[in-house]
Amino acid sequence: MSCIGRFAPSPTGPLHFGSLLAALASYLDMRSRNGKWLLRIEDLDPPREQPGAAGSILRTLDAFGLHWDGPVAYQSQRLEYYQDALEQLLRQGAAYRCNCSRKQLKTRGVSGLYDGHCLRYPPPASASCAIRVIHPESEQQFQDRIQGVRRYQWPPGYGDFVVFRRDGLFAYQLAVVVDDAAAGVTDILRGSDLIDETPHQIALQALLGYPMPAYAHIPVITNPAGQKLSKQNLAPAIDPSQRQQLLLRALSLLGQKPPTDLATASRDELLSWAVTHWNIAAVPGTLSLCESET
Ligand SMILES: [Zn+2]
Repeated sequence: MSCIGRFAPSPTGPLHFGSLLAALASYLDMRSRNGKWLLRIEDLDPPREQPGAAGSILRTLDAFGLHWDGPVAYQSQRLEYYQDALEQLLRQGAAYRCNCSRKQLKTRGVSGLYDGHCLRYPPPASASCAIRVIHPESEQQFQDRIQGVRRYQWPPGYGDFVVFRRDGLFAYQLAVVVDDAAAGVTDILRGSDLIDETPHQIALQALLGYPMPAYAHIPVITNPAGQKLSKQNLAPAIDPSQRQQLLLRALSLLGQKPPTDLATASRDELLSWAVTHWNIAAVPGTLSLCESET
């Protein structure tokens, strides 16, 4: 069976180095196995998006030689599929309405994991509500190709997660699972900041009758202050004119040990070497840059 991977950025700003690392690793993981590499723009949350960011991300990937297969998918054009999946979950009795406000959650001491309140005390029919999925298992584990075995445990109700937000937007968890299944994605490689979303996504796949892809989470780079390198803390956009140096640096950080004679290689020579020599076992589990490297 041929493999299919994807890169799925949110258009909240230009591509930064941490995203380049995820894009490159996912690209190499597919190209080294003659697989397809798809591109999806996760534009489900308009208030967080930046005008022009999607186009800028596409141009940057192109400049780095990371060419994707087929047309770009946009989540904003796929709402009907998320609606179908949501209705399926409700029909199955796998989801329930929740009108807990942030303030109520805080008062009850709920942070991160939910306490199952609205499953026991359903909100009135007139209330505007989020939809939560009942996490069907209290214990779960999965094998990550980079991070190893991950184990999770929830008391009843505590694993229940939002698939439709109270503000009327579909939640990331639902969209990502529906889209990956629709595109036949077999391999998900992304940043480890998303690793704890994975058990929820695996639960959704089972509820919706989708196959489970293989998972690999590359380390998220932290800056000298220990913060994740992200658009939110203003990680600088990467400069395509520096692409050879940046690709070499990305390969080194991914544990791939490019030989020194590649220092003067072209972009395509670098990528060709990297595809041939890709070794996911060499990717480190964590990555903290304490020098002035970020
Ligand atoms: Zn609730």
